Amino acid sequence: TAFSSLGLSEPLLRAVQQQGYETPSPIQAQAIPVVLEGRDLLAAAQTGTGKTAGFTLPMLQRLSEHRPPEGHLLRALVLTPTRELAAQVGESVSTYGQHLPLRSAVVFGGVSINPQKDLLRKGVDILVATPGRLLDLHGQGAIDLSHIQMLVLDEADRMLDMGFIHDIRRVLKLLPAKRQNLLFSATFSPEIKRLTQDILHNPTSVEV
Ligand code: AMP
Repeated sequence: TAFSSLGLSEPLLRAVQQQGYETPSPIQAQAIPVVLEGRDLLAAAQTGTGKTAGFTLPMLQRLSEHRPPEGHLLRALVLTPTRELAAQVGESVSTYGQHLPLRSAVVFGGVSINPQKDLLRKGVDILVATPGRLLDLHGQGAIDLSHIQMLVLDEADRMLDMGFIHDIRRVLKLLPAKRQNLLFSATFSPEIKRLTQDILHNPTSVEV
């Protein structure tokens, strides 16, 4: 498989090429076409498999295909268990999206909240967040989640291990019902299976 056969647009192919990637990893080859079609995705994948590009590239493409007339509107939410992973995913979003007119932000706890509020006020299309800080920002009226079209739960098993299940369920209640959902997890405990059943609609499963 070549990146050019997956249905990605030229600005994304150019970014991929600039990263020096020659061929899509197995998770990318499987996940990218599914996400571009607008389907829900259940992906069994560890870190190091290229999963981040697997969801980031098609997410960027879908958001760039239908841009709101009002400029930047928060339409995609990526939840991660840790600030380190949030920062990494945010880096990937910036890197792969460098040739697209989309804006993103990363928010996590343990740092002051006001700069994050300022960032959000300027308008972003994509938000990468840890669950607790997302809820804090929402509680303070700093985030409008009513336009979210795409939700990504990255390393969902780690989020549950870290006790984020209640936060995740609280976030879910704040999102529009009609949206695309992607869930990545390395392991599948009964608790994770329950979450996937509650969140994903008729998902395509990929495993690497
Ligand atoms: P991830 O599993 O998403 O954390 O990615 C692991 C590493 O693989 C990152 O450093 C990426 O830059 C790199 N990577 C992702 N996709 C590819 C690819 N198709 N070819 C070569 N390297 C890649």
